[in-house]
Amino acid sequence: MTKTIQPAASHHVGGAPLEDTAGAEMPVIHPADGRVIATLHAATPAVIDRALESARAAQADWAARSGTERGRVLRRAADIMRDRNRALSEIETLDTGKPLQETLVADATSGADALEYFGGLAASLAGQHIPLGGGDWAYTVREPLGVCAGIGAWNYPTQIACWKAAPALACGNAMVFKPSEETPLSALEVAAILTEAGAPPGLFNVVQGAGEVGHALATDPRVAKVSLTGSVPTGRKVYAAAAEGLKHVTMELGGKSPLIVFDDAEIEDAVGGAILGNFYSTGQICSNGTRVFLHRAIRDRFLERLCARLEGVRTGDPLDESVNYGPMISARQLEIVQGYIAKGLEEGARLVTGGRRLQREGFWLEPTVFADVADDMTIAREEIFGPVMSVLDFDDEEEVVARANATAYGLSAGVFTRDMTRAHRVIGRLEAGTCYVNSYNDAPVEMPFGGVKASGVGRENGTAAIEHYSQLKSVYVRMGRVEAPY
Ligand code: NAD
Repeated sequence: MTKTIQPAASHHVGGAPLEDTAGAEMPVIHPADGRVIATLHAATPAVIDRALESARAAQADWAARSGTERGRVLRRAADIMRDRNRALSEIETLDTGKPLQETLVADATSGADALEYFGGLAASLAGQHIPLGGGDWAYTVREPLGVCAGIGAWNYPTQIACWKAAPALACGNAMVFKPSEETPLSALEVAAILTEAGAPPGLFNVVQGAGEVGHALATDPRVAKVSLTGSVPTGRKVYAAAAEGLKHVTMELGGKSPLIVFDDAEIEDAVGGAILGNFYSTGQICSNGTRVFLHRAIRDRFLERLCARLEGVRTGDPLDESVNYGPMISARQLEIVQGYIAKGLEEGARLVTGGRRLQREGFWLEPTVFADVADDMTIAREEIFGPVMSVLDFDDEEEVVARANATAYGLSAGVFTRDMTRAHRVIGRLEAGTCYVNSYNDAPVEMPFGGVKASGVGRENGTAAIEHYSQLKSVYVRMGRVEAPY
């Protein structure tokens, strides 16, 4: 029997739950069995308006507080999140279908890291003193942008809410966040925790709904910045909508990242990296290394070890902590991924393992590996966003770098080799925003994360995120007289 979770209300606005049943019904489905675990309502224009107004009202006072005070609220929220990690992880598991084994270590904990990190930075945000000729000088002031809109994807709902809220709030902004309509529950928990930690009412609001609600936020003149985590097609639309109002943007979009394994690599580590970069969260991770380029000399050994280790996949109730592999998020996503598997077979890739839907309730798909994949096959070109690994062979470094870069995307890239000179030489030539040497998919909050090319604009995490949630005011100070020509 699936647990149900009925939150106090669909939205969190002005520091409290808010309901408006006039909004379209949004059933929340547990992906492991397809059952409805909650029913929410999409935000009506009235709810969106109230959220934006309360964000605007809260922002000026928040920005006027000292950074130390703002940081204290964020760090308190981080502590509460850690204390409630298990309960939050269970909600995340019910909402996303991701195994509790994963959510216990990768979701609320990662959100708490962001709140703690940016809470710690808040007091040190400052401008610059710039000495100029003749005794004049200038200074810069780092100012908040105002009200920011956050729009999330469904794969890491708690993490995405916190990766956006933490730097935004640290810089003195307020936020209206719209989670993905597939996974609306955990952002409500983040909002309640921030309120409990002392965030003023309206500082962080959550409104539910699909694309139209996101569009309403991206086009509202009260919004100064839009931060989206989503697919490239959505990114194009949201970027264009934000451009109309000349708003700031952060675009965390999709990818088709290369993971390159040279013939001197430590094979077990490379297999481990490829498993994390293709099957963790059932492959629903933007930075996944889904084009696995194997040096021809180690291809067979790698595939043999990969298949042996995939025997360790355990499916079942995702709340059972021994389960390490979950379902796809939705029937629709399952269908999309099955379509790609069919295309792979049709275009002549060799199915090494997997490929089938599991015959049970919910949206389950086997971890799938294709070998003998050619660069021009659909499965090697398009983001699948599911548990499908494409293995491509290569012979030399020059060739693999060129092939790895032959994509419109540029989110991530990984290199496995024991030759450190080669590792850094290759990484230096790969067109990707977030790279890994002898590892894959680590995302510590201290390290900037984001893409180049079609994979995105801006960076989350690290001190780099501060640049994307603040603006500089430059002030010229003349110490002498003003000389004018007339
Ligand atoms: P999606 O693009 O379908 O939706 C993302 C969000 O945008 C949702 O909240 C959706 O409601 C909203 N949206 C849709 N149309 C909109 C519009 N016209 N205006 C405003 N908002 C709109 O993405 P998804 O299916 O939820 O997530 C999967 C995608 O997200 C994949 O492409 C994945 O690579 C990407 N992703 C990227 C990152 C990253 O950090 N780079 C992280 C996770 C996921």
